[in-house]
Amino acid sequence: TIGAIGYAAYDIYNKRHPFEQKSFDPTKRTIVLLGTGWGAISFLKKLNTDDYNVVGINVKRFLSVLADVVISPRNYFLFTPLLPSCTVGTIELRSIMEPIRFITRHKSRNVKFFESECTDIDPESKTISITDVSDIKGAVSNSTIPYDYLVVAIGADNQTFGMAGVREYACFLKEIWDAQKIRTRLMDCVESAGFASQPPEEVNRLLHMVVVGGGPTGVEYAAELHDFLKDDLELWYPELADKLKITLVEALPNVLPMFSSQLIQYTERTFKQNKIEVMTKTMVKEVADKEIKVLKANNEMVTIPYGLLVWATGNCPRPLARKLMARIKEGQTSPRGLLIDDYMRVVGAQDMYAIGDCAFSRYAPTAQVATQQGKYLANIFESLARIEEGQNKKIAPFEYTHQGSLAYIGSDKAVADLPFLNGNVSVGGVATYVFWRSVYISYMFSFRNKFLVLGDWTKSKVFGRDVSR
Ligand code: FAD
Ligand code: NAD
Repeated sequence: TIGAIGYAAYDIYNKRHPFEQKSFDPTKRTIVLLGTGWGAISFLKKLNTDDYNVVGINVKRFLSVLADVVISPRNYFLFTPLLPSCTVGTIELRSIMEPIRFITRHKSRNVKFFESECTDIDPESKTISITDVSDIKGAVSNSTIPYDYLVVAIGADNQTFGMAGVREYACFLKEIWDAQKIRTRLMDCVESAGFASQPPEEVNRLLHMVVVGGGPTGVEYAAELHDFLKDDLELWYPELADKLKITLVEALPNVLPMFSSQLIQYTERTFKQNKIEVMTKTMVKEVADKEIKVLKANNEMVTIPYGLLVWATGNCPRPLARKLMARIKEGQTSPRGLLIDDYMRVVGAQDMYAIGDCAFSRYAPTAQVATQQGKYLANIFESLARIEEGQNKKIAPFEYTHQGSLAYIGSDKAVADLPFLNGNVSVGGVATYVFWRSVYISYMFSFRNKFLVLGDWTKSKVFGRDVSR
């Protein structure tokens, strides 16, 4: 208890009283860091800025969501594991965002941060091009920045397989604005279904929520949606609640393929009890504004009308990563991301590193991997600085330590594959759910986020979730 109070007091004091920082030093090498996600922030937190100058670049992206709502630029770190909870209001969006300035202001040397999008990387001249994509432009909105070292941590794009209609009609679940869009569209569907004289078949379509992809993102979203329906919508919309239907479409024979068969069965059983229809061995082939066409294992093509469509079929490289792979002449042979070696160096490029989802290595694209790679890379830079001072430092290749997989499956239940002792421990149920919550709380970067998330959980239990849009 004393430790926790001490940590909280220290965190609060630090946020309110940033200390004096050393300024940019032209005699030091400059690291340019792209991104403010899991990889970039773990790297930045661990990096000793006494040895380097750091310039951080992040996309400033705006998106019109439905009625021209302008989304804030991403000048923050986003705790993605709790993003599905934000789509139904169990947790508020601000509770899982950490402003990047809270992190940069506490490094020993001033970190320059430009809110902009990196549009090109030139490995030959060791420069990057950046552009200000906001709608309020200053006198300069394009610039070129030189680097001594470049760390690419730009994450990945949503995989659509180039299917027409997906970007137009479906909602993704990767960024803050995606969660906002889902929440708005869900409540739009419910309110439109309740509109005067709505024909019954249109009510059924509007209240059909379809999730494509049975990986952890799709499963966790379906689970949160089910809880919202049971805990809140049934109370506030009793005339519509029994018509609301959730369907999960998955191309493979089962959901959560990375979990043990015992946990897969447990998840599928829980979904059945919760009346979530799971269509496995079913592949989406066409997407239109009000319906999708799916191909079943028996080669039958079926049309499924929907009100809300959530698309969670995994990752693909961002356009910038593809452009860079094309520019690097040697070695970039994978269509799945930037090939790196065991020291996070981008194959075929000089003084360039890649971490997290944008890099293709033998590990899954998870926050766990990105975090470990970020910390490892900070250690590499520490060693390089000591070697330059003449010390004899040996750098071992990166080794990933898998700490287990967790997923929320609804009705206060979670599944966990934990590599304890020498074997795997697979557990599911309510106790696992408590464990799931405590693990995520412990992984949050700041006391402020922990406090806000605990408050949101309490608030939604006591008062219910907010059904306003
Ligand atoms: P990101 O965190 O995506 O960050 C990329 C950064 O790069 C962002 O700041 C972005 O704005 C910036 N960027 C993009 N393009 C550019 C550009 N051109 N120029 C400059 N900056 C750019 N993993 C787990 O281990 N456990 C979980 O429980 C878990 N839950 C998840 C839940 C959801 C809903 C999702 C979507 C993912 C989840 N993941 C989880 C996966 C995890 O979020 C990713 O693996 C992780 O975010 C990857 O980190 P990253 O730093 O590579 O990329
Ligand atoms: P994923 O790649 O894990 O799963 C996507 C699923 O979509 C696959 O099972 C695939 O078979 C299916 N699919 C693809 N095309 C389809 C189609 N046309 N029709 C039907 N199904 C189709 O993607 P994800 O769930 O978005 O996760 C991305 C990454 O983030 C993964 O590495 C995952 O482990 C990680 N993540 C982890 C957690 C967690 O640990 N709790 C939560 C979310 C995401």
